[in-house]
Order: sequence, then structure tokens, then C-alpha cells
Amino acid sequence: MERFLLNSTVLLDRLSNVSLDEVLLDDRVESSVFLAQYEQTRSLPDHVAKSAWSSLEQQLKQRNMKLGPVAALRLIAEKFVKNEKDGPRTDLALFSEWQTLMSRVSCLPVMACHQVINPGPANQEYRFHWPLYPYHPTVEDYITRERLHETHQHLNGSTSAEECWLDALSHPEVTVRDFEKGWVSQEMKQLCGQIDSSLTPKTFKARLQVANNIREILCRVAQGVELPEWMASLQHPQQLADSTILHQGKEYGLATVWPTDHKYSQESEFCWLTGVLEKWRYGAPEGLERLLWIYLLIQNQYLTLLVQRDDFFGFDQFQKYTMTELREETEKSYLSRFKHAHGAGVYSQVRYLEGRFAPKSDPSKMQKLLFSVLRGYWEYLKCHMTMDWEHSQPLSITQVLDNLEQVKLGSICAELALVPHFIKKKPKKDEVYPYALLFKDLKNQAAILMDILNHEPRLTRWIRGVDAAANEMHAPPELFGPLFRVLAKSGIAHFTYHVGEDFPHLISGIRSIDDALRFLPLRNGDRLGHCTAIGITPGIWKRSLPLSLSMTKETRLLDLVFIWRELRSHPELLRYASDAAIEAVHLAHEVFSLEEEISITTLDQVFELRGVLAESEGLLDELGGPLKPKSLWLEEYERARELAKKVGMKRPLKLYEQWLTSDNVRKQRAEYVEVALEYLPDEALVSLQQAAMAKMADRNVAIECPPTSNTRISQYRDVNEHHIFRWMGLPSEAIEGDIPMSICLGSDDPGIFAADLKSEFYHLFAVLTRKFGLSPAEALRKVAEVNENGRVYRFHDVR
Ligand SMILES: [Zn+2]
Repeated sequence: MERFLLNSTVLLDRLSNVSLDEVLLDDRVESSVFLAQYEQTRSLPDHVAKSAWSSLEQQLKQRNMKLGPVAALRLIAEKFVKNEKDGPRTDLALFSEWQTLMSRVSCLPVMACHQVINPGPANQEYRFHWPLYPYHPTVEDYITRERLHETHQHLNGSTSAEECWLDALSHPEVTVRDFEKGWVSQEMKQLCGQIDSSLTPKTFKARLQVANNIREILCRVAQGVELPEWMASLQHPQQLADSTILHQGKEYGLATVWPTDHKYSQESEFCWLTGVLEKWRYGAPEGLERLLWIYLLIQNQYLTLLVQRDDFFGFDQFQKYTMTELREETEKSYLSRFKHAHGAGVYSQVRYLEGRFAPKSDPSKMQKLLFSVLRGYWEYLKCHMTMDWEHSQPLSITQVLDNLEQVKLGSICAELALVPHFIKKKPKKDEVYPYALLFKDLKNQAAILMDILNHEPRLTRWIRGVDAAANEMHAPPELFGPLFRVLAKSGIAHFTYHVGEDFPHLISGIRSIDDALRFLPLRNGDRLGHCTAIGITPGIWKRSLPLSLSMTKETRLLDLVFIWRELRSHPELLRYASDAAIEAVHLAHEVFSLEEEISITTLDQVFELRGVLAESEGLLDELGGPLKPKSLWLEEYERARELAKKVGMKRPLKLYEQWLTSDNVRKQRAEYVEVALEYLPDEALVSLQQAAMAKMADRNVAIECPPTSNTRISQYRDVNEHHIFRWMGLPSEAIEGDIPMSICLGSDDPGIFAADLKSEFYHLFAVLTRKFGLSPAEALRKVAEVNENGRVYRFHDVR
């Protein structure tokens, strides 16, 4: 309930439009909170919200507290935050609930409130660290000893909303410009519409201005500076929507009164908030408290533009957060992300860190990006090491690498490896074959990467693996097969691939994982990202979906052939294999407009060709001009030519060529069909999952698992339901026939999910001890295995 007092669009709108001296707002607040709650959990009967409200009112009355932001912060801080040995921590039992709260409410003001109601020793004045963890001596001891191993973190999307917020206040004009840049995309407009239909570049700009002005006033209150008359007599929040304030015909500007130069640092934010809350310990002036309320509502609305809210599901939703551009400015420098991964201690809490970044299509941009990342890493090392650096201000990749060569491994800092992730994109109109343009782009990016590696071979120590990320429903794994094989030849040592994270049907998700295993050159010890489709139980997957799902004929056809291939060897599931084969043949007739008969085996052969380079003599000929004899692509090209010579391949090749180039077939591929949610019974779905699990285990391919990201993107209510516990083989979760998987831990996008690797570790530990009743030592053993797999399966250069 308290979270809706601090994050509600309706409330923000109402409070922004009533004068500051208007009292008796409780009814309006109640109805705003009710609406916010109702909008987010529509299945709740009214009486639940009403009773929760009455209970809140009763609590406030009993404790003589006034309804408002201070009371809300106080209730949250009292419920969730405790003073442990080394400072404030969140309650382990409530950690999952806290994580949910963090998708709507900024942690910083809560921590400031905690500090005021539980003052610690005087030497611990500034006690805000993001994110806030629980505390268990077993876990703390383990992390100090072994440290954490990060296998899946995107460098962009890693910064906390708190840091971005302060940057936004510090450079509002840049933030507004970035917001406008993002506004061009439909996704950003949709996200704003979902959060607040009145949110446009204009309102965004005005709100930032209001927040900045309020912050100035409250900074004065915190420092005990007397407010000038024009400030004290403010009537209405709307007066704050400009950089100057009109009072009795005169214009006043809010000059800074902060005592340090770092007015927008997290320390300063914490400091003024504690200052204000301390002064208001026994009651706050109505108008000023209202200003704080508006400030927090604006701040938390901004947070929901950066952090995926707990009631927003699916990958498409996640991708909107990557398109807002609101992290753009803050994430230009990489230093703070490495500092964050390091944590607050002397020794880094992370030992092996793999950072991912999107490769660029322009050589100078790629150079610049690599330079910024490596320079940020070096700056981070510099904070912890006193050394006579070869270049005190490195200005090029070569100079940064010279400096990095001076560093001995096994230091107190996190060790870095980089993994460029290519971006999956939808096919475009008027392409020679689907993805021809994307493929051209990918080839170009790969060539730039290979050039850089050729030019500076020392980079192969840093760029260790390659991945493809973004929406997996936009581009399939097979497209990346030839590309990854070529990259392997130029020094890329490892491969991973985002797959089975979000899917049109559970069958399609499992099939994508199978396709990744079939078509990508994954080697012993490589990894795949997410693989939710072979972990989530059919029951949870179906829970929130309609009885019928729409998908393209292409997806359906590939799924049917996959079902046939995987289930035909199961005597008890054979009938589902036969049904799928019949339907596949029928659908293939429709898609290819066939006149002759086709067998399911031929269809399977056709789709096996998806792993071949389309632009080759065996298929569509050389589209990009003749290949040079030394080209790394020559082998891919010849692979298709050899295939074309094989007996019995004539028809599959012809059909596959039509699949790629015939307008009619392509039109058919893109058409939608309805598929029953329960097309296969659960036992058949589980059998498909287990077949893929067996292949992964057989090839020793590990899974990178980011629990909070999966919880937000999949259909889980909270981390308690996550499939990692099935993979861990917990008796109540494992399904007969499951194969033990090698799982590593990842944080994915710490900023977007408001969680980092240490909090992921704690989430697993909390569920194992609290839900499954394991002893701390047993729980630690299980989570430790997952963490240490990150070291075993790391992509780092092992010398
Ligand atoms: Zn990812």
C-alpha cells in the first residue's frame, strides 16, 4: 500500500494541481491510491484495497503519524530495513518483496529515512549503497572467500536509476533531449503510455524542472537556511514549472546553496534527505512536506522509465527500457559500473566479470566504444592500485592496453573479459531473402571486429567471446551459425547466445534452444543465455496465457517438424509425433503451394538447410561479389556448394531456395495461425524440454541464469517460482527424467532490474532456506555450485 503513496500517476497529477495549503486531502489520496492499486492488480476485489487502506489509516493514527511521504518512507524503512553488523541491510525473509518494491520506489530516500530513525555510529554517516542486500554470515563469509563470478551482464543497462536520476537533475537539458530522441520510437511512446498517458517530452521537461526547484528549496530546509519570503509564500506547485518563480510581479531564480561542488552526488542527495527528515522528525510543515511528496512521485515515475516494473512482463516490454535513451548520458563513462560491480569492500565482491556490449557498424565508433570500456576499467583499477602507469592519461586503445599489461592478475579488483553481442533485428521489406540486410550488417560488424583484433592482437585477451542478444523472436539462431564460425577463425575463443527467454509458444522456445545447439558452433564449455523454455514448468507458463495463441505459419511449421523429430523415438508419445507430422505436411502444402506429395523427412531436410550460408553458390549464389581466395567466408561458401552436389539434395535445396526467395512462400510464412495453448499435453512438453537438456549436458554447454531478469520477463510472480530450483534438482521441483544442468549466475541488466550479482546470490539463498527449508550450509552449497560454475565456464583468458 505504501508504495502507491510514493509511486502513483493519479496522485502525482492530483498533488500537482492543488494548492500547497490545501489540507484534508486524505479522501483524494485514498482514491488515487485505490486507482493505482486497481490498475496494477485488476483481479483484486475492491474490499482488499479498502481494508488495506483502513489498516494503513489505523497504523498512522495509532502512531500519531500524518498521511504523507514521510509516513510512507517510514513504514517501508521499518518493515524492510534493519541495522546489521556492517550497517543497514534488508530482511532476508522479505527480500523478494523488497525486490518487487524496488521496481517502483527508489531505495535512496528509504535509506535516508532509515538513517534518521535508526542513527548508527557517528562515523557511519553516509550509509547508502545500491542495491541493498540482506545479511547472512554464511553468505558474507563465502563471498569474501570465493567471490562472485559474473557470466552475463550487459554493460549498458547496468547503472542504477538513482544515479541516472541525479544526472538528469544535473543536466536537465541533455536528459530532455535524450527523452525526445527516445520519443521517436513507438516503444518509448508505449512505455510512457503504460506508465502515465500524460507523459510527453513537454510534461517530462516540466516535471524535471519542478523536481529541481523543489530540491533547491528542500536543500535549504536541510541546511537550516531561512527561506526568503518569495519561496516561503509559494502557493501552487505549478509555480515551480519554470526556471524562475514569479512573486509579486518580480522574477526570482533559485540559486544553489549546497556547501560542496558535488550537489548531484548520491552522498548529497542522501545528506539533504536525512537533513530534511531529521528536522521533520516530530512533524513537517504541510506545504513543504507536500513538495517532498511531489518530488518523490516525480523521481519514482522517472525510475519506472528505467526499471522494469513488477507487473510488466515479457521481452518486448524489457526492450522498451533499452530504447528510452535515458541512460545514454550517464552510461558514456564506464567507471561507475565497474565500481558498482566491485562493491563497497576493499576486495571486489566480483572476481570474474564478463561485460557485454553491442558492436558498432562504423570502425571509429567501435574503436571509441572499446576505448571507453577499457579506459573505464583502467580508471577503476587505478582507484585501487598505486602504480607508476606508463600512460597517466591514456588516449588510445594501445595506450590503455599498455597500462593494463602492467597489472598482475589476482589483484583485489574484478577481472574483466568482454563479449560483444550482435543485435537481432526483424527482417526488412524488399530484401533478396529474409535477413539479407541484417546479415550484411552483421558481416560488416564482424569484419570491423576482426580488423581491430588483427590490428591490435592484444585485444584477444579481452574480447573473449561473442553473443547475440535483443528480441529472439526477431531473428533465429541459424542466422548466426556461419558468422560465429568465421569469428572463431579470427581468434574469438567462446560463444554464447540469448535463447529460449521469451517465445510464442513453449514448444517454439524449446525448439529455439534446440536450433541454437544444432546451428551454432558451440564447443565443449561454451554457454547459452537464459534457456527459460527448458526450465519453466508447463503449468506456470500456461497460467497467464489465453487458450489460443497466434503465431506465424513459419513458427508453426518449424515447431511441428521439431515435435516430429524429437518425439518419434518415444513409444508412449509417438501419436503426438505422427499428428505433428501430418499437420506439418498439410501446412507445408499450403506454404509452398505444393502440387506433389512431400514427406516429413524431406521437410526436415529442407529446414536442416537453415544452417547454411544463404549467399553461396549452392543456394542463392554469391550476392556480395566474388569471394577472395583468402576470405574467411570461403569455407562457409564451399560447405553449401558441397551440399548441393550431394545425392538426394536437389528437391530440399529447391524448396529451401523458395523458402528464402519466393514472394508467395514468404507471404505465407508471415501469415498467422491460431494454435491451442494445450496443443501438447504437459508430459510431451516436459519430454521436449528433457531432450534439449540431454543435448546440452551431452555437449557440456552451460546455462547463464539471471534470476531477477527471468522473473520479470517470464510469467513468474516472484523468484520463489524460478526454474533454477528445478535445474538444481530440488525434490519438490525436479521432474522425473530431468537431466542435471550446469548453471552459471548472471545479473543481465542490473540497472533495469534493480538487482546485481550479489543480490541474485542472496535471492537464491533466501528461497532455498525459506521456501525449501534447507539449512544455511546446504543452501550455500547449492548456490555456491552455481556461482563457481561461473568460474569454471568463464570466457576469460586462462593463462
Ligand atoms: Zn542478456
